[in-house]
Amino acid sequence: MFEKVLVANRGEIAMRIIRACRELNVKTVAVYSKADANSMHVQVADEAICIGDGPSTDSYLRIDRIISAAEIADVDAIHPGYGFLSENAHFADVCESCNIRFIGPRSAAMNALHDKASSRVLARKAGVPTPPGSDGLIETEQEALTIARKIGYPVMIKAVAGGGGRGMRVAHNDVALVKGYHTARTEAEKAFGNSGVYIEKFIENPHHIEFQILGDTKGNIIHLGERDCSIQRRNQKLIEETPSPLLDKKEFKGLRSKMGKAALRIAETAGYTNAGTVEFIADDTGNFYFLEVNKRVQVEHPITEEVTGIDIVKEQIAIALGEKLRFSQGDVQFKGHAMECRINAEDPFGDFRPCPGRIEMYYAPGGAGVRIDSHAYAGYTIPPYYDSMIGKLITVGRDRAEAMNRMSRALSEYMITGVKTTIPFEQAILQDPDFRRGNYTTNFVERILSGAKFEMIQEKA
Ligand code: ADP
Ligand code: ADP
Ligand code: MG
Repeated sequence: MFEKVLVANRGEIAMRIIRACRELNVKTVAVYSKADANSMHVQVADEAICIGDGPSTDSYLRIDRIISAAEIADVDAIHPGYGFLSENAHFADVCESCNIRFIGPRSAAMNALHDKASSRVLARKAGVPTPPGSDGLIETEQEALTIARKIGYPVMIKAVAGGGGRGMRVAHNDVALVKGYHTARTEAEKAFGNSGVYIEKFIENPHHIEFQILGDTKGNIIHLGERDCSIQRRNQKLIEETPSPLLDKKEFKGLRSKMGKAALRIAETAGYTNAGTVEFIADDTGNFYFLEVNKRVQVEHPITEEVTGIDIVKEQIAIALGEKLRFSQGDVQFKGHAMECRINAEDPFGDFRPCPGRIEMYYAPGGAGVRIDSHAYAGYTIPPYYDSMIGKLITVGRDRAEAMNRMSRALSEYMITGVKTTIPFEQAILQDPDFRRGNYTTNFVERILSGAKFEMIQEKA
């Protein structure tokens, strides 16, 4: 076992990793920015090292400072969490060249899935359908127009380096396409330092369904089932659940197994190791298309843990140690239903604008079947530099109805004052008859926001 692990992240995911390490009797080192000096991950780690100023380009993205911290603290391994350096193959290589194990995929697999355009090529090689679109980068307006007219509107212009729902634009005609081409490029350059974009067919009203993958370094790869993440705002997930209500429908019998096999083919083709997620969109007729591979632990991994009983972070550590997977595909059993609400410090009635600030009162729900992954506490000031997620509320039940009723009950107990949160909006979704029936697609939130229902929700909140 490792003796000491450095956690190159912050917030709830840093807490999550420290918790797994502690249960394995592994010492932890937190790194933090000056803006995070009062953050919980700094308090709970065995050691903590400040690596710079608030903006992540001055701290959490500084490979040199993180490696220096790792050398000073003399750690065996680094866990990168999600976001920041987690999908940076160069960082993984630097760790290995300093004799520090990187707890994540091999850099060769990261390179094979380097960006969304090259991942599309790999998926097709693996015999998995992708949305029709450009073969590679789009370099000019003219090229964009030619492709869009060929595949037919609507289309999506997407940043090859995109993440967190940023750097993508939908276009229904030539004028919107030219405009979207430029705004997507500018946004991508600013957010990811890479202005490369490509075009794919915009699939209308799809379901976002993804498969959790685990692969060891001996060539064994399994999946831990799917997560339905169709409840999104601005192409970013808000509520996730497993199993997917769509794949549970009688008319889609066989689709779950087909998608699971497709996810495994992609992982195998990439020589994937450690934990990862293969994302798809599916339409209402049973067609599905590959979107991307998230080469890291995912925000919504706990719902999979709750229905499989497998601790994904501990498995990541075991895989990084070179151990063989302790489960075969047949050993993975699914029990019950789990759901997650991302608790963001945002104003759901003001365009989901981030609301950093001081949390005055904080009371988290508990009771049977409730799990909270969070770094928040009363008196904690949410810094403005990072994303607005302050926690995740996860519930598990015997079936979907129980998980859902538990979520609603837990949301009603969750007390956070001082900042606006997504809680009242999520509570409204939990009461929605279509959501309750499991009838929803990725445009669900948009529909609520633009409909008459929204005023009612706002009033109740
Ligand atoms: P998930 O697929 O795990 O739900 P998200 O796409 O919501 O993940 O992103 C998870 C976290 O990682 C967020 O903090 C997001 O801002 C960050 N993130 C995702 N992709 C990138 C990227 N390419 N560059 C920088 N940050 C990213
Ligand atoms: P990110 O890296 O930001 O997570 P993804 O490619 O995974 O980007 O897409 C995020 C979300 O955007 C998807 O879950 C889906 O809701 C929407 N989306 C992406 N591509 C398409 C598409 N071709 N058609 C329809 N919706 C899409
Ligand atoms: Mg994605």
